[in-house]
Amino acid sequence: HADTAMYRAKETGRNNYCFYNAQMGERSYADLALEHGLRNALENQILHLVYQPKIDVGNRSWVGMEALLRWDDEQLGSVSPGEFIPLAEKLGLIEELGDRVIEQACKDLQAWIAAGYKPPPVSINVSARQLVDYSFAQRVFNLLELYAIPAELIELELTESCLVIGDESDQFQLLKEFDAKGIKLSIDDFGTGYSSLSYLRKLPISTIKIDQSFISELPDSHEDAQLVKAIIGMSSALGMSLVAEGVETSAQATLLHGLGCSVCQGFWLARPAKVEQVTDWLAAMTKNEWPAFPEDWQPI
Ligand code: C2E
Ligand code: MG
Ligand code: MG
Ligand code: MG
Repeated sequence: HADTAMYRAKETGRNNYCFYNAQMGERSYADLALEHGLRNALENQILHLVYQPKIDVGNRSWVGMEALLRWDDEQLGSVSPGEFIPLAEKLGLIEELGDRVIEQACKDLQAWIAAGYKPPPVSINVSARQLVDYSFAQRVFNLLELYAIPAELIELELTESCLVIGDESDQFQLLKEFDAKGIKLSIDDFGTGYSSLSYLRKLPISTIKIDQSFISELPDSHEDAQLVKAIIGMSSALGMSLVAEGVETSAQATLLHGLGCSVCQGFWLARPAKVEQVTDWLAAMTKNEWPAFPEDWQPI
């Protein structure tokens, strides 16, 4: 009998139901707080950018900087992008968020240029979702024009996950538009995705960023050193530039440099820094005092 079955399910499930409900309630409260916080942060411009230099340890030049989003919330404290970027994607806010990131980077570049500095290119992280919309390229071009930023000063960092979704030919067109405009594209976290390598020769990609998981066990791990070597060999065969991510020690930089990857990004050289700090670095660069190297750096 249907009624009885329902009754029984209710009866036997009662404890479970209460337990389940309390847990779910708690979790969704935290989720809601985060969601509310993110919407509020977007609305009230609470998010800001920090910049982490990419430095060629071979010729000691500052070749770029990566814009990284930060959210320091009054109520929630610091929320990491690893947490709120996926949330923004889930909530359908990533396009707006992404546009804001590009606009802020353009504003910062404009201010540095107006002050007479020569900033290196800024690279911006792009989520897979942003690449689905064909108007994305046009919005980027409009921002560059609005702030009078040369296209060479903006690069986009795509992950492999960006390249496996959506219609292949649409995406190819979109990436080609960036390329035609002079906006360089790089593959972030290279080696951690699941996409086939064939995209490397199909798409206009200029740089490969070796994921930090391949760097962190260097110089001790022989396997990782071999993998890094293979990645370097492949990129140079394809005529691509390289950046090593998450370089934390002088020994790692020395090894990478020796293997043929001289551009490093990581805490060893510089942590992601606020705009004011970047301005100080730009000023120091004009006096040949930047990039400054850690004392333990002994080039070979
Ligand atoms: P990512 O693009 O791979 O960025 C590199 C991450 O490594 C950053 O974490 C950076 O702070 C961290 N890092 C840099 N040097 C070192 C090091 O020497 N050691 C270690 N352990 N970590 C280092 P962050 O800032 O927490 O960002 C995490 C991820 O969030 C980024 O990974 C990127 O995928 C995403 N993200 C950040 N900002 C944005 C954004 O504006 N838009 C989008 N779509 N994603 C973003
Ligand atoms: Mg990145
Ligand atoms: Mg990365
Ligand atoms: Mg990474």
